[in-house]
Amino acid sequence: MESIIGKVIDGYRILDVLGRGGMGVVYKALDTSLDKVMALKMIDPMLARDENFLKRFKTEARALAKLENTNIVTVHALRETEFGVFMVMEYVEAKTLSDWIQQKGPFSWEDTVTISKQLLNAIGHAHRVGVIHRDIKPSNILLDTDLRVKVTDFGLAKVIRQHGPSSTVTQMRAGTLYYMSPEQVKGLKNVDFRSDIYSLGMTLYEMMVGKTPFEKTDSDFSIQKRIVEGEIPPPTKFNSSIPKPLAKIITKAIDKNPLKRYQSAEEMNQDIQVFEDSNSQVSIKKPSQLKLPSLKSVFLVFTILLVLTLSYILIMDPLEIFSEKETISTTKKPEPVLVSIMTEPDNATIVVNDSTVGQSPINQFKINAGSIALQLMKDGFQSIDTVLTVRAGQNVSYSFTLKQKSETVLVKNLGIVQIQSTPNEAGVWINNRFIGTTPREKEELRPGRYNLVVRKRGYAEYRDAFVVRTDQTTEINIKLEMLGKLNIYSQPAGADVLLDGNSIGSTPISEKELKQGSYRISIRKEGYEEYSTSVSVTGSSVNNVSKTLTPLTGSLKILIRPWGSVYVDGVLQKKDTNIQFETSLPVGLHKLKAQHPALGEWERQIKIEGNKTLEYVIDFNQTAMLTVTSEPNGCEIYIDGEASGKYTPKQLKLRIGKHVLSVQKSGYMLPGGEMQINIEEDVRDPLHFKLIKIQ
Ligand code: ATP
Ligand code: MG
Repeated sequence: MESIIGKVIDGYRILDVLGRGGMGVVYKALDTSLDKVMALKMIDPMLARDENFLKRFKTEARALAKLENTNIVTVHALRETEFGVFMVMEYVEAKTLSDWIQQKGPFSWEDTVTISKQLLNAIGHAHRVGVIHRDIKPSNILLDTDLRVKVTDFGLAKVIRQHGPSSTVTQMRAGTLYYMSPEQVKGLKNVDFRSDIYSLGMTLYEMMVGKTPFEKTDSDFSIQKRIVEGEIPPPTKFNSSIPKPLAKIITKAIDKNPLKRYQSAEEMNQDIQVFEDSNSQVSIKKPSQLKLPSLKSVFLVFTILLVLTLSYILIMDPLEIFSEKETISTTKKPEPVLVSIMTEPDNATIVVNDSTVGQSPINQFKINAGSIALQLMKDGFQSIDTVLTVRAGQNVSYSFTLKQKSETVLVKNLGIVQIQSTPNEAGVWINNRFIGTTPREKEELRPGRYNLVVRKRGYAEYRDAFVVRTDQTTEINIKLEMLGKLNIYSQPAGADVLLDGNSIGSTPISEKELKQGSYRISIRKEGYEEYSTSVSVTGSSVNNVSKTLTPLTGSLKILIRPWGSVYVDGVLQKKDTNIQFETSLPVGLHKLKAQHPALGEWERQIKIEGNKTLEYVIDFNQTAMLTVTSEPNGCEIYIDGEASGKYTPKQLKLRIGKHVLSVQKSGYMLPGGEMQINIEEDVRDPLHFKLIKIQ
């Protein structure tokens, strides 16, 4: 096949091959409109020809685009072009974990812990939004020299496995078998997120041992049998220096019975955290590692500080508090932001960016840097609603003291509101005060009218007002409307975009949040055909509109008599022709020239309009009348540099086309110089020259 390196496909300049996998080739490419390097997964043309496959792939890619996590490779778009179908992903400058293991053998337990926490963060996030990876393995894990992890290919295995066991593609995927869970090997339909826990366990196994428990010479059948029967020796069999608790965590993750494995990524992460905390004495010796102190020690400090202060909010950075102990940690490497949140008393529900993340205390919750909206609530206590700003590379710990709800509100004559939303766990603000997340069973309020705002990430904000009456219950049930995301691209970029007739900016437009429904999109750019289409935006997925705009053209027809050459914008189109010349030109201004070697030259600026034809007949034998006058009169007229023997004022008969005219009279000079004129037909106004007397 012809190489596509160097080509520009749909706005992406293909730079290099990054690797090959089961679905096709992955290229490094430059998004020419954003000037940003991306990774393009080009789907094997054999697969792309299968419509069912394509359909499943598109559905899956849309689901993937909603995964946003520091440890997950972002999927930006899916493109269908004449060169094939490809997925546009974030480009990660890193090697795969599989390459690392091959090149440097087993990892230290410290590095394994650092990496496994990020892997659990990635799959934990995906599981929370309902995506199962299905193919966790070292070649789908990108790891850079700073031990930063990004997981790729979420959910794609589902698409490819459904393609059928006979396909060549399935057979190409040798090596994948090692990480398959027993339920996957058995071909069970309802494989759930615990299958990812298994594959992750097997990946950690390989990291600690330097190889999988299988041998290259093992037949597929014997590998499958051992997986299903759970005959996998503990990792310590191959490497006795693996710390026992870590080996136990790995063994639990790869239990053949899903019920005996960790039941969530968080649960596994907790065990890893406990293991890490209990070994932190050792890890402090390692200069590249910068660790948060254990939750217990933070609590100790917190309790002391609580005695000292009655402040409402107390913010502290444990890294600073412990700086004396940890000055050995000199080279601080950039880490994802880990946030710990504690409350006094604890067991308050924590809502971050409109999603419930758990009960306090939470330790080292991973979050994207920037502003985060935080709400804390607990029955009997006043809720806290605040915005925190966390800088990248900063690990922070926040402690909050919750104030008890004052008893005085419990007076008579109150009314009750119940607020439910579908889905629940949406934040509720009454008269701009955050009161908790739905469902709100029993909010007691004084009689009156209240404003209500309900917000949940990924849903349209709901606003309304309600009335509370004494001793009555107001029930409010809200159906939240899911928001969809829309990307709009055009080639070239910079085109105006209209959404249902209203301008929403210019391309590229990314992740415009819209309510579900059908929209009319028009993309307009001068010199290009307007493109209009309908898109139906669905919730929970990213919808794409991408269009290579068609340049607008018009045509030009020109016939030269008796014959001559045609030039457009200075370029010869047709030499010495006596038949009509026709060409199509981009809209806009152009310079058209007809030339006959003896009869002259005709030149004109023309304006080509979209889908219109401009027609010219230039007859160099045709003549036109032109009157020449001057002040004073009686000057000799020079035509194209030659004295004509005619004196002003005079009506001249000239061939059509370009002529140069001037006048002369002794004792006078012509300050304006000669004049150029392009004659096409009789000229109504005289050509007038003004001379100056020489002293
Ligand atoms: P499988 O098809 O089973 O996933 P695989 O993971 O080996 O097999 P691909 O996913 O097609 O194959 O990836 C091929 C190679 O491309 C990877 O090994 C990796 O080196 C590179 N690669 C993939 N995605 C990216 C990315 N987003 N950024 C940089 N390199 C990438
Ligand atoms: Mg892959």
